[in-house]
Amino acid sequence: MVGAACAYYAARSGLSVTVIDRGPVAGGTTGAGEGNLLVSDKEPGPELELALLSTRLWRELSDVLPPRVEYEAKGGLVVASGEASLMVLRDLAARQERAGVKNQEVAGDGLRDLEPHLSPDLAGGFHYPQDAQVQPALAAAHLLRAGRDSGRVLLRLGEDVTGVLKGVSGDVRGVRTASGDLRAPWVVNAAGTWGGRLAHLAGVDLPVLPRRGFVLVTEPLPRVVRHKVYTADYVADVASGSAALQTSAVVEGTPAGPVLIGASRERVGFDRTLSVEALRRLAAQATRLFPVLSRVRAIRTYAGFRPYLPDHLPAIGPDPRVPGLLHACGHEGAGIGLAPATGMIIARILSGGELPMDVAPFRPDRFKQASPGTPRTP
Ligand SMILES: Cc1cc2nc3c(=O)[nH]c(=O)nc-3n(C[C@H](O)[C@H](O)[C@H](O)COP(=O)(O)OP(=O)(O)OC[C@H]3O[C@@H](n4cnc5c(N)ncnc54)[C@H](O)[C@@H]3O)c2cc1C
Repeated sequence: MVGAACAYYAARSGLSVTVIDRGPVAGGTTGAGEGNLLVSDKEPGPELELALLSTRLWRELSDVLPPRVEYEAKGGLVVASGEASLMVLRDLAARQERAGVKNQEVAGDGLRDLEPHLSPDLAGGFHYPQDAQVQPALAAAHLLRAGRDSGRVLLRLGEDVTGVLKGVSGDVRGVRTASGDLRAPWVVNAAGTWGGRLAHLAGVDLPVLPRRGFVLVTEPLPRVVRHKVYTADYVADVASGSAALQTSAVVEGTPAGPVLIGASRERVGFDRTLSVEALRRLAAQATRLFPVLSRVRAIRTYAGFRPYLPDHLPAIGPDPRVPGLLHACGHEGAGIGLAPATGMIIARILSGGELPMDVAPFRPDRFKQASPGTPRTP
């Protein structure tokens, strides 16, 4: 998704781009997530700023991309089970509002006007009209197609980048794949969870780590869930750096019918083993929120590895350690949402345009050197 967005905006800036992926389109984490485009779960700060810019860009993209990318400006509903968690939400909502996020408190007895099937015993919540949703794999594919149709984006799938070519002064000159060398003055590392490995090929350290997540998919249903609905606990889980299993139900309907129930978080390396415990917890939390789901069958599950940087911010921009190398990776659980703003920033840097926001917090060289797997401080 992030590479597709970088290619799309770079092409729109008049640049010629070759996208190289060792797999198919959306064969990485993009094909394993839910596609929420959220501002509601973000603390005020650089990530929220990036999300607000992306929200606007996603709206623009929804006019360019075909309806089958399932863009829905459906809004989010964050709910609290008791007065204590409602107070936490109130505090966050007030701070977010000052940062430009629209939200509105919903009393406990008003929640079911928005979501008729919600459990009746919730204390209240907040409605976030700017939250939206998209089908990530299709969105990535159609962004690439739009780039290709412009005549400026070339797609090379099934090709592993095995080396980064450099000139005598250490500046980037292209990449190496099994098919040969591809010469280019700029290389953008949009390798997601594998961004650290690609950085390593260029001789620099970028501590991207995998944070595993499972999603549970139900049989197709009529629209029983209208918004993206999640509990106050989810916000804390997103911000947490804990390696332990965390689950907090995030429930949403899709235009195709299945309800998606996410999302677990744990740091277990690239272990793909199915975790029945994670799925059991997700199902229990989702049915607590929407009792109607207890009568519904789960038909499948999928897992992915969020590209995680220790301070929860992506790496976006040029790497001062290797001229010509840019990074656009490490977006953790928000890479679908944050992709357009990332793509626009990368394109502006490459074409010398004006940056749409301050990108200093995303500097790729902000981490101290440390041993692999050790959380590092900025
Ligand atoms: C369970 C789960 C739920 C999620 N839900 C959401 C959500 O609701 N909203 C949201 O915004 N985000 C969500 N995310 C996070 C989101 O999916 C990621 O942040 C996003 O997909 C990252 O996109 P990317 O393009 O950076 O990485 P990827 O999609 O992983 O793309 C990286 C690509 O690089 C390629 N690659 C790597 N190394 C090489 C190499 N050496 N040579 C060639 N190609 C290479 C890979 O094949 C891959 O296709 C979720 C993630 C998970 C796991």
